[in-house]
Amino acid sequence: MRKVLLVTGGSRGIGAATCILAAQKGWDVAVNYSANAQAADGVVEQIKAAGGRAISVQADVAHEEQVLAMFQKVRAELGPLQGLVNNAGVVDVSARLDEMSMARWRRMFDINVLGSMLCAREAILQMSTLHGGVGGSIVNLSSAAARLGSPGQYLDYAAAKGAIDSFTLGLAKEVAGEGIRVNAIRPGLIDTEIHASGGLPNRVKDLEHLVPAKRGGSAMEVAQAIVWLLSDEASYTTMSLVDVSGGR
Ligand code: NAP
Repeated sequence: MRKVLLVTGGSRGIGAATCILAAQKGWDVAVNYSANAQAADGVVEQIKAAGGRAISVQADVAHEEQVLAMFQKVRAELGPLQGLVNNAGVVDVSARLDEMSMARWRRMFDINVLGSMLCAREAILQMSTLHGGVGGSIVNLSSAAARLGSPGQYLDYAAAKGAIDSFTLGLAKEVAGEGIRVNAIRPGLIDTEIHASGGLPNRVKDLEHLVPAKRGGSAMEVAQAIVWLLSDEASYTTMSLVDVSGGR
């Protein structure tokens, strides 16, 4: 039986690398995006060209109606889910706490935390043996920021990722008896466009001297860990927070 995977924010960066690698490993992949349809379609084309099966699906993970429609579409076009990667995430520009607005914090938590909880809820309704499913694997994207705190840069982002860690630990225990494993990846400095979106396009180069491995990581290096956690090779691994950070 073919296995169906949904990757939120699968159109660019770590999400795109995850979609491509998972398809190579035999997953049918739903590539979610919020705004950049062209990037999502590019990932789908790449998967199809290699003989895989994929669709793109629009939804802002912070909007419940859009998320419900996305889960419906994926189920109708590919089948019930056995994998979810809660990868969609955002940063904001560097600031101190005393310079940040409530609107910024709401966006940060709506997308990074509530979006992940919402998608996990909908995935569990398809995966859980309690609801007639066959089980599955959920991988949440946390960040090394959850440990480092990101002072002076974006501690709202770090706090949101800290919430993802707690959410992962609790949900893993809640559904472990229903055939579902839940883990998180905490990437360090990874070379993607997220840094430019926070106004720091050279962030990886600027900070790589702080990494014990003395370099930033690639999206594919993170995807390797995600796709392993999705796989049956990780069948006894749940409730883990896996650092993919070059030692930082
Ligand atoms: P990225 O290159 O900026 O890509 C972000 C992806 O998320 C895009 O596909 C984007 O799609 C999508 N997205 C953004 N907001 C969304 C929303 N509201 N709903 C649905 N999709 C949305 O980011 P990345 O660096 O690959 O990061 C991926 C994850 O890893 C994030 O959770 C991030 O916090 C985490 N992480 C990254 C690093 C790093 O150094 N790169 C380090 C630690 C953790 P559109 O273009 O369509 O908006």
